[in-house]
Amino acid sequence: MFEKEYDVIVVGGGHAGAEAAAAAANMGSKTLLVTMNLQNIGQMSCNPAMGGIAKGQIVREIDALGGYSGIVSDRSAIQFKMLNKSKGPAMWSPRTQNDRMRFAEDWRLLLEQTPNVDFYQEMVSGLVVESGKVTGVKTSLGLKISAKSVVLTNGTFLNGLIHIGEKQFGGGRAGESAAFGITEQLVDLGFTSGRMKTGTPPRVDGRSLNYEVMIPQPGDAQPEKFSFLDTNRLTKQRDCHMTYTSPLVHDLLREGFDRSPMFNGRIKSLGPRYCPSIEDKINRFADKDRHQLFVEPEGWNTVEVYVNGFSTSLPEDVQFKALRSVVGFENVKFFRPGYAIEYDYFPPTQLKHTLETKLVDNLFFAGQINGTTGYEEAASQGLMAGINAHLKIKEKEPFILNRDEAYIGVLIDDLITKGTEEPYRMFTSRAEYRTLLRQDNADLRLTPRGYAIGLASEKRLKKMEDKKEKSKAFVSFFKKTSFEVEEINPILEEVGSAVVKQSDKMFKVFSRPKMTMNHMLRLKEVQDYVAQNNLDADILEQAEIQVKYSGYIAKEKNNADKLQRLEGIKIPAGFDYSKINSISFEAREKLKEIQPVTISQASRISGVSPSDISVLLVHLGR
Ligand code: FAD
Repeated sequence: MFEKEYDVIVVGGGHAGAEAAAAAANMGSKTLLVTMNLQNIGQMSCNPAMGGIAKGQIVREIDALGGYSGIVSDRSAIQFKMLNKSKGPAMWSPRTQNDRMRFAEDWRLLLEQTPNVDFYQEMVSGLVVESGKVTGVKTSLGLKISAKSVVLTNGTFLNGLIHIGEKQFGGGRAGESAAFGITEQLVDLGFTSGRMKTGTPPRVDGRSLNYEVMIPQPGDAQPEKFSFLDTNRLTKQRDCHMTYTSPLVHDLLREGFDRSPMFNGRIKSLGPRYCPSIEDKINRFADKDRHQLFVEPEGWNTVEVYVNGFSTSLPEDVQFKALRSVVGFENVKFFRPGYAIEYDYFPPTQLKHTLETKLVDNLFFAGQINGTTGYEEAASQGLMAGINAHLKIKEKEPFILNRDEAYIGVLIDDLITKGTEEPYRMFTSRAEYRTLLRQDNADLRLTPRGYAIGLASEKRLKKMEDKKEKSKAFVSFFKKTSFEVEEINPILEEVGSAVVKQSDKMFKVFSRPKMTMNHMLRLKEVQDYVAQNNLDADILEQAEIQVKYSGYIAKEKNNADKLQRLEGIKIPAGFDYSKINSISFEAREKLKEIQPVTISQASRISGVSPSDISVLLVHLGR
């Protein structure tokens, strides 16, 4: 039934699996995607949305490298918003509301159009491991399929246990079976596993809601998009709506607390701190008499609606009664109740930077299996694991992104260096160089790297180079060209900035606070330059950021370069930490466990102090 031996087998067709399969195949590996249900490739298990704060940056990075998540998100978008637009550009974060069914369909179709991807629907029940190296997978029907490398992306399915009130049953997602066998085998092989939980809100019938009493939440007037390629911008959008819970809703929910698996000890594992259930919010923030709910359509045509903010595992009758007391939900009909799910994960300190496991050669883990939460976190790991699975078997250099190059670099470094005991999600605050890691420049940062490994296309590279050249030239135009005093002073007065007495370079006034590209575009010479060079909105934005934030960018770049020096000091593989007496016991244990590759990575391990690092430096110097 199968190729004699695949280059890469990807287990699981969620966000991580789909990106992993696409990346490995696009780089030239013969790839098999084995997943439990081919109908559910790219399924959004929870909210029908992509991106958001820090996550939007990740989607753009995936796109810049040549992954598919940005394209799929654009094609299936029903609303676009650039979040945090009132803050500096490092914080701008694109987000789309998506048509859940189209999102999954677009993923499936894109993968079908990707040469080198074969598909097979079945549950993988185990791995074939010979002499410390993975050589294939075993399926529940008893088939053995051979491969040079395997990427596991099992998501929430490993021994998944669903909770609704006092009821609990096995499942990887509502309506889908859990996966068995893999955890047990990996533990036998010496891996450590853990347990985490997550939850989802009820889905309801939009025809039963009264939108008149809710607050509309429209998309941006000028919607942008994720992909740097030629996907379309939205010309029409669907509104979301906002409403609130109330003290009455909270009282009704509290009535079910004694039957809540969260509070009666049935759920033992930790859930995502920043995505708490409604019962958790009421419990933890007892003084708050209302919580926001976002009412999000599940697609262009479906009447199904997602109730963002009302994640719950309370009994379904309690969910229903409480929701009926929310403004606008008085006549609500349920499509599906909310639920919580517990699942196995593998602490990610067991991985290398390539996402290959330290214990078994050519075996890679990506996505929720590594203790993360979120589609974007999963997709980016899938992409990196797919790339590195391919590179490993072709005996090429691994592909690693540094912390100053990409949020993806921050994510993976955090996971493998610090580990995580609760579901890990990305935030801008996790990146020390966020002025460098902006959504607008993801292509400038990463497309050359994606192209160099054979993933990003020539077309992508050309587009990026064009943007780079044009924005650079526009910035130097501002540096070289002088303004007319009579033309600039009315604008300066308007923004409350001191007027000038004599002409100077445009860059100087443009750099002032409150001065924007729109103000500069009122100068005749600027207008002429834009028209002559046919500059589009992307170039204008890029040039504006480079002028206005040049100081911050240069400072951060300088700090990043300093860190890079520590990154350059390699620690030899298998370094014997027990030889060094003068480091702390805790540091020695952690260093032995994590086996950092560089001094810089060692310095980020919790429990390793600056004085431990000094000792290490002296020792390595010796
Ligand atoms: P998944 O999307 O779970 O995909 C796993 C894939 O692997 C599936 O296709 C499955 O069929 C397949 N598979 C598993 N085991 C096998 C096997 N043995 N053989 C073959 N195929 C297999 N994220 C948030 O950011 N916020 C939230 O609030 C949130 N809530 C969630 C609530 C619920 C109930 C669930 C289920 C998930 C929630 N998530 C949430 C998480 C989000 O869905 C995941 O982070 C994301 O989908 C993970 O992607 P993944 O590719 O790692 O795994």
